[in-house]
Amino acid sequence: MPQPLSSAHADASVSTQTRDELSVATAVRAALSAGVSVNMRTMRVYLVGGAVRDRLLGVRVRERDWVVVGATPEELVRLGYEPVGREFPVFLHPVTHEEYALARQERKVGPGYRGFTTQFAPGVTLEEDLRRRDLTINAMAEDENGALIDPYGGTADLAARRLRHVSEAFVEDPVRILRVARFAARFAGLGFRVADETLALMRRIVDAGEARTLVPERVWQETERALAEAHPEVFFETLRACGALAVIFPEIDALFGVPQPPRWHPEIDTGLHVMLALKYAAAHGAPVVVRFAVLTHDLGKAQTPKADWPSHHRHEEFGVPLIAELCERLKAPNTHRELAILTARQHTLVHRALELKPATVLTLLEKCDAFRRPERFAELLLACEADARGRTGREDAPYPQARYLGQALAAAAGVLLSESERRGLEGAEIGEEIRRRRLDAVAALKARATPR
Ligand code: ATP
Ligand code: MG
Repeated sequence: MPQPLSSAHADASVSTQTRDELSVATAVRAALSAGVSVNMRTMRVYLVGGAVRDRLLGVRVRERDWVVVGATPEELVRLGYEPVGREFPVFLHPVTHEEYALARQERKVGPGYRGFTTQFAPGVTLEEDLRRRDLTINAMAEDENGALIDPYGGTADLAARRLRHVSEAFVEDPVRILRVARFAARFAGLGFRVADETLALMRRIVDAGEARTLVPERVWQETERALAEAHPEVFFETLRACGALAVIFPEIDALFGVPQPPRWHPEIDTGLHVMLALKYAAAHGAPVVVRFAVLTHDLGKAQTPKADWPSHHRHEEFGVPLIAELCERLKAPNTHRELAILTARQHTLVHRALELKPATVLTLLEKCDAFRRPERFAELLLACEADARGRTGREDAPYPQARYLGQALAAAAGVLLSESERRGLEGAEIGEEIRRRRLDAVAALKARATPR
């Protein structure tokens, strides 16, 4: 990696630079062409975090984070950096707008993830800054000549596919539980696993009651990102393995140990089923909103009295208030809540689509508001497909229900009343006539789909 403050730096946005930006860039480059002396100190800039990790892993670098050693906030401002950090001294580069943080140390002074004091003196070294980071694979740096600085064994852990904490200070921030679980979800496909000793520290954080101090916004932010990863099920499995699931998502934790009928669910355990369904949804590229619906579709099964196991009468409705509460608590977006509740309510009926009478199919479409929200209806069908196939041995089972209901919607939505047909009808009669024709259309489809 060449000198970060010169050529490599500007390349990201060369084509969009304005004349002003270019002149600032030139000034910055002139000032910082090598490590500059500022007040007898030498300011150095290092590439850190995910970009170093991802380049060594050979995966796409998403964004670049930088650390500045040997400078003060005032000096960075003078060089044209824009201060943006509310709690920490973080700056945006005048040209690339990438994030530059002053090297800092952290000390735990109170509970929770805000219970820190931060020290960022120009004397803080790179190694000190790297030491406060979560995982060894995230605690490597690259200097301006491209040389790797790896004081905590990140390269070895990359090779060993190990997510390992940097130091005992790991336990000071409960957000790291979420981050590690998220990285486990991201890199599971490459063979990464959380190191046993790191999982033990995560459990220690939970046992100390610190997971309860996580603010809902942060939990949701990390969860949403985790849901988007290649193996979102690993996020929840990791949280469960350290005991955090019971604190953060008690509704999901409660599904583990709840049996279902082996005839429909060879995997039996409801928690396991939900993980398989989530895995299926992610493997088939389902959007996050669908993955969330899959995650929550069976929450009601934890409400079934034990005496009724393994059947789960009315679990569909029982799940609805649990989903509403979970979304309220985490401040999940409305789109997520709506699809999740719809999926919880309707998934059993969707699975039975081929047995339903045309009138029931039409009522289902209406209840789903499918005529006005066809995209959401398609998302519901995808969530139901993940539910059906997220079962041991059923991963490739046919799911004709989705296609059938899609066709039913298309047929019913295609019904028209001409101007002249309308003319002879009063207000409400128009709606009734449309509904009658929609019913005929669904019945005709059913006759074609299931010939005698
Ligand atoms: P991504 O590819 O998702 O950007 P990243 O590793 O760069 O992954 P960021 O959230 O961008 O993650 O954070 C940048 C770096 O800051 C991390 O690599 C890690 O070293 C450090 N970091 C971020 N949050 C924490 C935290 N809560 N505790 C310790 N270190 C952290
Ligand atoms: Mg990053």
